[in-house]
Amino acid sequence: MKIAILSRNTKLYSTISLVEAGRKRGHRVRVLDPLRCYMRIAAGDFSLRYRGRALSGIDAVIPRIGNSITFYGTAVLRQFEMMGVFTPNTSDAVLRARDKLRSLQLLARENIGLPETVFGDNPDDTADLLETLGDPPHVIKLNEGAQGQGVMLAEKRATSQSVIEAFRGLYANFLVQEFIKESEGADIRCFVVGGKVVAAMRRQARDGEFRSNLHRGGTATVVKLSAAETDTALRAARTMGLNVAGVDLLRSRRGPLVLEVNSSPGLEGIEATTGVDIAGEIIAYIERRVRRRRPHKIQATRRKVSPALP
Ligand code: ADP
Repeated sequence: MKIAILSRNTKLYSTISLVEAGRKRGHRVRVLDPLRCYMRIAAGDFSLRYRGRALSGIDAVIPRIGNSITFYGTAVLRQFEMMGVFTPNTSDAVLRARDKLRSLQLLARENIGLPETVFGDNPDDTADLLETLGDPPHVIKLNEGAQGQGVMLAEKRATSQSVIEAFRGLYANFLVQEFIKESEGADIRCFVVGGKVVAAMRRQARDGEFRSNLHRGGTATVVKLSAAETDTALRAARTMGLNVAGVDLLRSRRGPLVLEVNSSPGLEGIEATTGVDIAGEIIAYIERRVRRRRPHKIQATRRKVSPALP
């Protein structure tokens, strides 16, 4: 197969790991900077170029699109999809997962456990909004934050009020959640590939910190998932329409609660912690899904459109 990895940085561990796994399994793998892909769109005819040359004959693309380039990155990914190239995570699914609020709404509809969450727009409603959520502590999150950035713990109602006012002043989108105290600064990252949890780790926040992100100094250990946790992780990934996903869970008194579903989960921490060749799992999944399809130029009328998830 000819596999393209959409990534801005060839030196990132996850990118290198995917390149090596693909090559080890006999594929031609190339890293493409999504910001250097440019496209032509005409009636029923889509093409992509890269540094002055046409991109063609690619069987599968693996999106590793950073938060800061979501819009352009997903447009490039969509162009690949229009050209009939297989991707484990579609542009729609990536966009869905990038919006925390939307993700929680979709998960809640499927009755998947989550920390109770409120959000609102008008400052006049803040007091009642917080009343709806209940007593502090509250966790306040920027809607589009990542790696624990923009996630705050407010111990008192007055703190919640002032953080919310500050966010509003910055025109930032945010949501407010109940604080799940009993998770004790730990969360569980479940790595889902093609409807299977291939690896899982427990991340523990360092002392004095409630966010367990490894980028914030959290430490990781292998964890054995309960049946309910596995089921929750798989349902969450499926609900978001992601075939490769990092599902973050909190262990709570009322069972596993989904924090978020990541569409470009990092490989370094989880491969190092669990010893699982996750990049290999992703390539193997792609092999199973890709049937050799040529030519890649497709007519709009022949394109099979799958029903869109909301
Ligand atoms: P990000 O996407 O920026 O990583 P998360 O929503 O995953 O943001 O939050 C970062 C970390 O903060 C989580 O991994 C978890 O350890 C902690 N955390 C987030 N929300 C809650 C909550 N409602 N209760 C307790 N801890 C939380």
